[in-house]
Amino acid sequence: MTVLPTNMGQRVTGFRPALFLLYVQSLLALSALSIALLIALSELSGHVPAIFLSKGNGPHPLSVLSVCLFSIAILRRSPFKVQTWWRRVLFMVVLTICLMRLAEIFLLNIAPLSHVTMSLYRASAPVPLSMGANTALALGLFTLGALIRPRNSTAAFVVTVLGLVPVSHAMFSYFFGMPGGYGEMSPPTLVLLCLVGLSQLFVFFRTPLLRPFLSETPWGRMARRQAAAATVGVFFLGTVFHGSDDTGMSGALLAAVFWLSLVILLAAGPIFERIERERRSLSREMRRQARQDPLTGLLNRRAVRAYIDNHTVAGGNMETVGVLLADIDHFKRVNDTVGHIVGDSVLSELGKKLQSKLRPSDLVARWGGEEFLILLPGANLEQTMTMAQVLRAAVASHVYWEKDGQKEPVTLSIGAAIYAADGSESLEQAIQKADTALYAAKSQGRNRVLCHNAPGGGAQSKTIADYRPKASALH
Ligand code: GH3
Ligand code: MG
Ligand code: MG
Repeated sequence: MTVLPTNMGQRVTGFRPALFLLYVQSLLALSALSIALLIALSELSGHVPAIFLSKGNGPHPLSVLSVCLFSIAILRRSPFKVQTWWRRVLFMVVLTICLMRLAEIFLLNIAPLSHVTMSLYRASAPVPLSMGANTALALGLFTLGALIRPRNSTAAFVVTVLGLVPVSHAMFSYFFGMPGGYGEMSPPTLVLLCLVGLSQLFVFFRTPLLRPFLSETPWGRMARRQAAAATVGVFFLGTVFHGSDDTGMSGALLAAVFWLSLVILLAAGPIFERIERERRSLSREMRRQARQDPLTGLLNRRAVRAYIDNHTVAGGNMETVGVLLADIDHFKRVNDTVGHIVGDSVLSELGKKLQSKLRPSDLVARWGGEEFLILLPGANLEQTMTMAQVLRAAVASHVYWEKDGQKEPVTLSIGAAIYAADGSESLEQAIQKADTALYAAKSQGRNRVLCHNAPGGGAQSKTIADYRPKASALH
C-alpha cells in the first residue's frame, strides 16, 4: 500500500512534560540529598548555619537520615526497571523509622528512638528533641508508596499524594504565618520533604491518573493551567486569612481546597483520556477514508493532489517523475455483459495487480472510474516505459472476467510522460501529456503503451510514440 506522509507541516518538537519530569525527578532527589548531607555535617560539627535554624531548631537527625536514605534509593532507581532488593531495604529502613516515630508519638509516652539518636549528637547542636509527627507521616507515606509501586502503581500514587498533604499543609501555614499548621516541622525539613515528595510523585508519570495530566493534549494543557490557577487561588485565599489564625485550621482549609482541585482534575484525567483515544481513532479512520478509494483500496484522486501540487513549474523539484495514465479497454462491455458487481471485482483485482508490481515509493491512485494514475518518482523514460509494459503485461495475463465459462482478459491502454523536474513544466502538465498519449493508445487499437515525447517520434504524431524497452527488462 502506498503511504503518503501524513504529518507534513506538523510540529513534531515541543515541550514534553513527561520526559522533562524524568530529569527533574533526579534533580530533586539530588538536591534533597545534598541539602540533607549539608545539614547533617553542620549538626554533627555543632556549627549549624542560621539558614537551617530559621523558626527555631533545625531538622531532627532522624529526619535528615531518613531523607538521605530515601533520596539515595530514588537516585538509584530507573523508572523502567523493577525494584532491586537493596533499594527495598533502604525504603524499609526509612519506613521503620517513621513508623517507630509515629508509635512513639501516638502510642507510647516516651521517645526512645529520639533519645538514642540525640545521644549521638554533640550537646551543643541546636536540633529539636524529636522528629515531628507530620514529618514522620509524610515520609512514611512516600516510602510506603515507593514500596507498593511495583505491585499497584495507582494505589502507590494515591499513597504518595496523601504523603504530600501534610507537607502542603505545613507549606501554606508557613507561608501565611499559621504556626498550628506546620507543628514541629522546621523550614529546612519542609524543603527536604517537598523535594523528595515531588521527586517520588514524578515516578508516576505513566499511571492512568497522572498521564493525562501531563499529556500534550488540549485537556492536559488545560488541567495544568487549572492546577496553576488553583495554587494561585489558594495563595490568594491565604492572604485573606493571613496572620488571623494560629490553630492551623486555615492552613488545613487551604491545603484541602488545593488538594480538592487537584483530585478533581486527576480523577477527570482517565475519562478524558478514553474520550481522546476514541476521538483519535475516529479521526484516523476519517483521514484514511478521505484518502482511500473504498473499492480498490488505492489512493484516491484527492490523496495524490498534494503530491501533484508540490511539483509545480516554479518548484524546480530535483527528481524526475515517471507518469503513467492507464485506462481499462472496453470496460463498459464487462458491465453490460456480466453486470456491475463483476465489474467492481475486476477493478479491485486490477488495483491489487498494479500495486503488487510497484515499489513502495511509487504512487498508484484511482484517477477516475476505470482510470488509474501511476507516479514513479525518480524514474527516467526507459524505466517508466519498462514499468508501463510490465503493468500492461501483468494485467493482460492475470486479470480476467468470465463470459459463458470463457475467460476474457482485461487489457489496459497506457499513456506515459516524464516530469523532467527542470522547471519547464509542472507535474499537472506531464499528466495532461500522458492523457494525450493514452488517447492515442486507444485510437491505435488499445492494449498498448504510448509515450509522449518519446525519442524518435511516432506514427500518430510527432511527439507520441510506441516505445518498446528491451525484452529482458520486462522480467
Ligand atoms: P475504452 O476502451 O474506450 O476506455 O472503453 P470503455 O468502455 O472502457 O470506456 P467508457 O468510458 O465508455 O466506459 C467506462 C465504463 O467504466 C463505464 C462505467 O460504467 C464503468 N465504470 C466506471 N466506474 C465504475 C465502477 O466503479 N464500477 C463499475 N462496475 N464500472 C465502472
Ligand atoms: Mg476504458
Ligand atoms: Mg475511461
